Amino acid sequence: MCLIFKVLAVSIALASFAGFSQESKKLEIIATIFPSYDFARIIGGDKANVSLILPPGVESHSFEPSPRDIVRINKADIFIFTGKHMEPWAEGIIKGVKNEKLLVLDASKGIKLINEHEEDHHDDADDHGHHHSGVDPHIWLDFGNCQIMVDSIASALAAKDPSNKDYYLKNAESLKRSLADLDASFKKSLATAKRREIIYGGHFAFAYLAKRYGLEHESPYDGFSPNAEPSPKAIAQLIKKMRESGNKHIYYEELIDPKVARTIAAESGAKMELLHGAHNVSSDEMKSGASFLGIMRENLKKLEKGLECQTE
Ligand SMILES: [Zn+2]
Repeated sequence: MCLIFKVLAVSIALASFAGFSQESKKLEIIATIFPSYDFARIIGGDKANVSLILPPGVESHSFEPSPRDIVRINKADIFIFTGKHMEPWAEGIIKGVKNEKLLVLDASKGIKLINEHEEDHHDDADDHGHHHSGVDPHIWLDFGNCQIMVDSIASALAAKDPSNKDYYLKNAESLKRSLADLDASFKKSLATAKRREIIYGGHFAFAYLAKRYGLEHESPYDGFSPNAEPSPKAIAQLIKKMRESGNKHIYYEELIDPKVARTIAAESGAKMELLHGAHNVSSDEMKSGASFLGIMRENLKKLEKGLECQTE
């Protein structure tokens, strides 16, 4: 009697342990911006639940997490942020987290950041006075950096869940190959660009991309976030430049009413084209399965058109 009871108890315990381990085995991952969310989703595959802390359509630079978001971070296994320049709020949250199992990943780890001096280097000596204050946080707009981010994310997943390490590393390798292919297509096309300037009606987001492919990046905005709107003077100077250069395309940024680009288009006769910085996506984009690679392939088409590349 007693023995049977014991055996039964042990098998129930084993069964529930197995059930528990299968269900709770999925890593809970929270990412702050769309690119690291998308990379973690691909690397984690069916072994991770990845969520993006930004609600769909929300502008990332002015985002502040809610108390509910902080509760979610407190329950997660991995929190991926982009670094203190992109998310100045993250440091306080990380310090306040009581979750001992949480692995915090700074996705800018190992990446060479662009700072204002390098940017100013290219500026004309005129008085428009661009002060790109501080460090440029848009590391994901360099596909070499993306591959470093993928490695860091894969290592974090492998550290939290060593039993699936090979699976994560294999997914990461394949994602890195796609990013290398993307980089090669950008390099090949943009090398043939007749125009070397990305004129942007949005904030300075594409400096990493411009630098990687030897292009210039112009914006009437003063900084690395869309929060401070450009001065009428800076807009007027850009309109003048558009007219003089005969440039037929003005790019605008995602998720924000493109009124600056619209003004420049109306005054210069240029056509507006979206150049998507992929900070975040709209809820329609999310529903239709937007991916970082897809967004960037679309950007390349727009750049080929606007910069007059010799594509076959
Ligand atoms: Zn930005």
